[in-house]
Amino acid sequence: MNTKKGSVSRRCKVSNCRNLKSASVKLYSLPKEGVMRDLWLERMNYIIDTNLKNLYVCSDHFLTGKPSGEFHKKHVDWSPSINLGSNNTKQFLDGDQC
Ligand SMILES: [Zn+2]
Repeated sequence: MNTKKGSVSRRCKVSNCRNLKSASVKLYSLPKEGVMRDLWLERMNYIIDTNLKNLYVCSDHFLTGKPSGEFHKKHVDWSPSINLGSNNTKQFLDGDQC
């Protein structure tokens, strides 16, 4: 199926967040594969599903405003950690699991 380019607006897919890209909000696309992708989905409370695509997470969900990158696993911003609409955010912040 094709969707016309330009007709789909990119927005954050975290459940209680509908941020659009703006001057103050950046959108980051979901990692394409691997543990990192699975973890992002888990944090976003998505069921892991290979059909998911065009998923974006906005800068509101990272402490520093952006993901740390795949080589910084221990960084709190390796995956979305804040404003995720769940009440268990804290455990992500004070744990240092790998
Ligand atoms: Zn968001």
